Amino acid sequence: MPLTDNSPTLGTLYVIAAPSGAGKTSLVAALVESTPDIDVSVSHTTRPMRPGEQDGIHYHFTDVPTFEQMIEAGRFLEHARVFDNYYGTAIASIEQELDAGRDVILEIDWQGAAQVRRQVPGSVGIFILPPSREALEERLRGRGQDPDEVIARRMRDAVNDMSHYAEFDYLVFNDDFEIALADLQNIVLAHRLRFEAQSRRHAESLKQLLAEQ
Ligand code: 5GP
Repeated sequence: MPLTDNSPTLGTLYVIAAPSGAGKTSLVAALVESTPDIDVSVSHTTRPMRPGEQDGIHYHFTDVPTFEQMIEAGRFLEHARVFDNYYGTAIASIEQELDAGRDVILEIDWQGAAQVRRQVPGSVGIFILPPSREALEERLRGRGQDPDEVIARRMRDAVNDMSHYAEFDYLVFNDDFEIALADLQNIVLAHRLRFEAQSRRHAESLKQLLAEQ
């Protein structure tokens, strides 16, 4: 079933965004680990591979001409330029999973999140925030090896990202990791109990429960 028409898919598409330093990647990994029937979509990117990353696992690493051909061919649900590189979500990889009733997480930036929100009715947006400016700066300083101007630029980028918080359905503050993880789990589990999902999942039981005596 095409993702972008108006018919609901069986699974839910979650769009999770955050400024860097909010702890999004670790939280999403823990969410997927602890929750059945949910996966993270693997994006395409033109940025160089970092040490420890694997093609097809962390990203599909692609060159610029190939990425631009994929845009032309309409193969992306959304794409954006982030820090001078292209990033995008290929439609094919997520459509099948959603149709099979699995939930899918897109871990993408706010520009991509806005595109998905417009195109996929029923998608759910979650924005993860750090608890305070001080905590964010401390996390962005990391191992303390980067010069002050690099940290200042990261802070400016993070504040710009955070200014888009109102475009999301849920806000999760990552002060305590376990609490933030429980917040994410609760969002997903509560969403699975919504009327639309439950009435499709339990159509037979509902029919039987309401049958004439
Ligand atoms: P990084 O290069 O550090 O892995 O990611 C940089 C930024 O790109 C992060 O904010 C990340 O969420 C975002 N990003 C990763 N994949 C995608 C994608 O498929 N689409 C969009 N729009 N952003 C993405």
